[in-house]
Amino acid sequence: MTDTVTNWARTITYTAKEYRRPRTLDALRAVVAAAERVRVLGSGHSFNRIADPGPDGVLLSLAGLPQVIDVDTAARTVRVAGGVRYAELARAVHAHGLALPNMASLPHISVAGSVATGTHGSGVRNGPLASAVREVEMVLADGGAGTIGRDDPRFDGVVTSLGALGVVTALTLDLEPAYGVEQRVYTELPLRGLDFEAVAAAGYSVSLFTDWREQGFRQVWVKRRTDRPAVEFPWAAPAAGPLHPVPGMPAVNCTEQLGVPGPWHERLPHFRARFTPSSGEEIQSEYLLPRPAALDALNAVDGIRETVAGVLQTCEVRTVAADAQWLSPAHGRDSVALHFTWVRDESAVLPVVRRLEEVLDPFDPRPHWGKVFGIPSAVLRGRYPRFSDFRGLVRALDPAETFANAFLRDLLDP
Ligand SMILES: Cc1cc2nc3c(=O)[nH]c(=O)nc-3n(C[C@H](O)[C@H](O)[C@H](O)COP(=O)(O)OP(=O)(O)OC[C@H]3O[C@@H](n4cnc5c(N)ncnc54)[C@H](O)[C@@H]3O)c2cc1C
Repeated sequence: MTDTVTNWARTITYTAKEYRRPRTLDALRAVVAAAERVRVLGSGHSFNRIADPGPDGVLLSLAGLPQVIDVDTAARTVRVAGGVRYAELARAVHAHGLALPNMASLPHISVAGSVATGTHGSGVRNGPLASAVREVEMVLADGGAGTIGRDDPRFDGVVTSLGALGVVTALTLDLEPAYGVEQRVYTELPLRGLDFEAVAAAGYSVSLFTDWREQGFRQVWVKRRTDRPAVEFPWAAPAAGPLHPVPGMPAVNCTEQLGVPGPWHERLPHFRARFTPSSGEEIQSEYLLPRPAALDALNAVDGIRETVAGVLQTCEVRTVAADAQWLSPAHGRDSVALHFTWVRDESAVLPVVRRLEEVLDPFDPRPHWGKVFGIPSAVLRGRYPRFSDFRGLVRALDPAETFANAFLRDLLDP
């Protein structure tokens, strides 16, 4: 490959013999039909080799295709092309007086890549972003097209698919009427005596941040819908001014705080859409565990606080409602998500990731598919009750392993 293509964080350089950016659907189908191995690269915000086709494969970008966003106001749905990012989608949907149920912390990630890895925001009643998907349009290994909707028995395998089944060329998502959100940040919430369930339910979307340098949380971000009754937050004091979740960073690129109401898409992400970070000095890991274990898991991390703090920029704790996608890290269990933004130093970070996984192991953690983890595939397979159904679906839709790569082979092989 003549181009050097990296992930957003520049921690992964993709190995591929070719980088292709077709401009029409027919050209895309021809690339797939001709390729022995192919993987789609979305917006490249993953931190592991999940998107890497390997040295014999084709790395495929959908960024050259028409970035279709078709809002159906009567049906309250949107059909969005495979390369579109949440920032553009949210703006278009809002212009029609409609909204997505939730967003991730950064709006610059692609919709198809996000739902493929189980990406989520926060909220005790909010499932992962994939929960909004009602239909998936794919180009399959032979170059043919297929559409799978919610009434198809394969549907729960095809949204959070890790890119293993085909090229997602479009998704149709459910929408709801636009709503307002106000965001307040509170500081210094103690871990001792924490009523996690109450804090997590104190807003539509709640995030707790800590650098683990001391016990407890430096910040709690509470996003409240203005169309729902306000809930008191008696556990910590409101911040005097806007804050960035990483201590010491300027808050100028963060979404508006201090309770100023605004549209959903300008409050649900932590970072503003108009600030587009082209890369980041970070590595990320994240684990989803059953929510009833939240306090025990936080205390377990607190037990290795100094080890974690040594390579950590920030840790974010969120909640994710259970969903039905077979490979969703929130599959079948209301979850707490422990996220770690590490410094960008792999050799220092990986031993800490291993130690963290040891202390979280009693809680059956499922890692975020797009982030750095070391839990062996054999262990992971046992943590997904529908894993063999997913493997069967991969074999049925992609018998020649056109969409396989080293990451997937390791995960799927018995
Ligand atoms: C700064 C930052 C903030 C983040 N915030 C959050 C957060 O709040 N919550 C959270 O859960 N995660 C978060 N993430 C992780 C991120 O959402 C995931 O890594 C997600 O997969 C990114 O989408 P992408 O398009 O960049 O994926 P890529 O890394 O490009 O691809 C991920 C996977 O999706 C597949 N894929 C992509 N597009 C297609 C397609 N059209 N058809 C078939 N397969 C496809 C790829 O082959 C690959 O397997 C964040 C990451 C960063 C860097």
